[in-house]
Amino acid sequence: MNAIASVKTIPSFPTLNDIDVAGKRVVVRMDLNVPMINGRVTDTTRVMRLLPTLTELVKKKAKVIILSHLGRPKGAYVPDLTLAPLVDALSQAMGGVPVKFGVDCVGKEAEEAVAALKPGEVLLLENLRFHEGEEKNSPAFSKALAAHGDVYINDAFSCSHRAHASTVGITKHLPFAAGRLMEEELRNLQTHLSHPARPLTAIVGGSKVSTKIALLTNLVNKVDRLVIGGAMANTFLLAQGYKVGKSLVEQDHLKTALSILEAAKKKNGEREACEIILPIDVVKRSTDEAGTTMSGIDKIHASESALDVGNRTLRLISDCLATSKTVIWNGPVGMFETRPYDISTLVIAREIAGLTAEKKLASIAGGGDTVAALALADMGKNFTYLSTAGGAFLEWMEGKTLPGVEALLKAA
Ligand code: ADP
Ligand code: MG
Repeated sequence: MNAIASVKTIPSFPTLNDIDVAGKRVVVRMDLNVPMINGRVTDTTRVMRLLPTLTELVKKKAKVIILSHLGRPKGAYVPDLTLAPLVDALSQAMGGVPVKFGVDCVGKEAEEAVAALKPGEVLLLENLRFHEGEEKNSPAFSKALAAHGDVYINDAFSCSHRAHASTVGITKHLPFAAGRLMEEELRNLQTHLSHPARPLTAIVGGSKVSTKIALLTNLVNKVDRLVIGGAMANTFLLAQGYKVGKSLVEQDHLKTALSILEAAKKKNGEREACEIILPIDVVKRSTDEAGTTMSGIDKIHASESALDVGNRTLRLISDCLATSKTVIWNGPVGMFETRPYDISTLVIAREIAGLTAEKKLASIAGGGDTVAALALADMGKNFTYLSTAGGAFLEWMEGKTLPGVEALLKAA
């Protein structure tokens, strides 16, 4: 992935370059909320992205104390949600560096485990959310976590949309800085969303307008072009008077769709009107013998559901990308889990990856299903930046302030 130089005008934050960690107890918030089956980690992508921070701290002889949550135990001990399986996953990722485990994240056992740490050693403490104080951002719990360290590092951008003890409360008690992954996320999002090379295009897909109203509303006021795909495009088409048959739509969001189209026509700050690109044709599935066919949006029959955008729409999108300098993508444009409705999402992914490789385009993508779709096409690595965050990435794109990030920026 390309490293992008920081832009002078963007708010700055302390990084690992600004804080002395040698020989110190360094409490690091990481996001080790990884998928697991029967106590085995099934996808180590998140762990691998944490390596730069981990290896740097070990190399600098810090005493590394890792904090993380896993799942939603809601303040009580849940054996299935122990972080213990992450000990091996972390150790393997670091090429065999031993990792110790603390059976609780606060209290006597945690304190003893921390006290026994030597410079260059790594300790993983048990699931933060086994304690109510974490999600309540309780002052007492924040203080207890802070007591483990001399320095605090936040490397969990994906958890920073929540004001919890380990992301916000703890910053009141210790000198702090962003870890390398947090730094990478922030620099990329700041550069490409707040100070993008234009034309700036956003592609928004997915199933529902209702989950992305704030996103669409913010983007339509910022971007030069907005491509709307996925099932949410059906709601826009219906609002414009097209018949969409059995397609997934949200009847109660027709007005929302129209107001987004209205907002697009107005000049806003750096951009003139926002050009909206909606499907002009679709790939649809029929409940009768016809099976899967393609047609213009004016020929969707009562028995059909639109499950992907069609070829002519793909050409529009491709022309749009060819003349864009930045693209931000969230949400698959079709029902990509089921073939052949994955085709447009994969074609767009390949196109963006190609333009990025030729340095014609900066490309940012994020969102749980979006990143899964890119992994399917093995295309993610060619993007300028793939956010590891789902909810936090969306909230950033919605223009919201993320409390965990805010806490780091305050220092600058
Ligand atoms: P992300 O997790 O990246 O934010 P979303 O959760 O918003 O993305 O959307 C992904 C979902 O949208 C997928 O499950 C996909 O099948 C669905 N989807 C996309 N297009 C359609 C469509 N035309 N009809 C039904 N579902 C669709
Ligand atoms: Mg999703």
